[in-house]
Amino acid sequence: MDRYRDLYEDSEWTDIQQVCLNGHLITEYAVSQPSTKRKHCPDCGEVTLMACPKCNTDLRGHRHIPGVVVLATVSVGKICPDCGSPYPWAEAARAAAREWVGSLSALTEASKEELGRLLVDIFSDTPRTRLACHRLKKFLSEMPADEAQPFVETLLDAAGPSASEQLRNLRG
Ligand SMILES: [Zn+2]
Ligand SMILES: [Zn+2]
Repeated sequence: MDRYRDLYEDSEWTDIQQVCLNGHLITEYAVSQPSTKRKHCPDCGEVTLMACPKCNTDLRGHRHIPGVVVLATVSVGKICPDCGSPYPWAEAARAAAREWVGSLSALTEASKEELGRLLVDIFSDTPRTRLACHRLKKFLSEMPADEAQPFVETLLDAAGPSASEQLRNLRG
């Protein structure tokens, strides 16, 4: 298998990841195994990309380390580490979360507005993320369970690392 070439290469390097516009991972070996690349996603049919559409920096794929076989998959990122923009799939998840907040029937207009403001600190890690997650809990308790749960799943698609961890705990 190609991944065993790491056993005889002599310097470390980072492969390129290919992801569809909806955030489905196609391959993390776009350079070392070009045959794994696809023009369209087999899951959703969207076009695929290998670089940030804002700054054109490569999506970081598998880290090849000589003599080491790393089997773990590189996860799909949400924010470009080079220009700070959310990737298209994270931007779409943010929009879905905002739209959902607007249509939450169990909450008052004032609560929806506050919840909308909390999203900023859920989408990216800030000093207010913990506070935002704490306040979010209160709103979730006011929502019917069959709405709260899929809402949290949508937030997870857009959330920064620290909020994701706290949201997973909420999910129980
Ligand atoms: Zn897809
Ligand atoms: Zn970028």
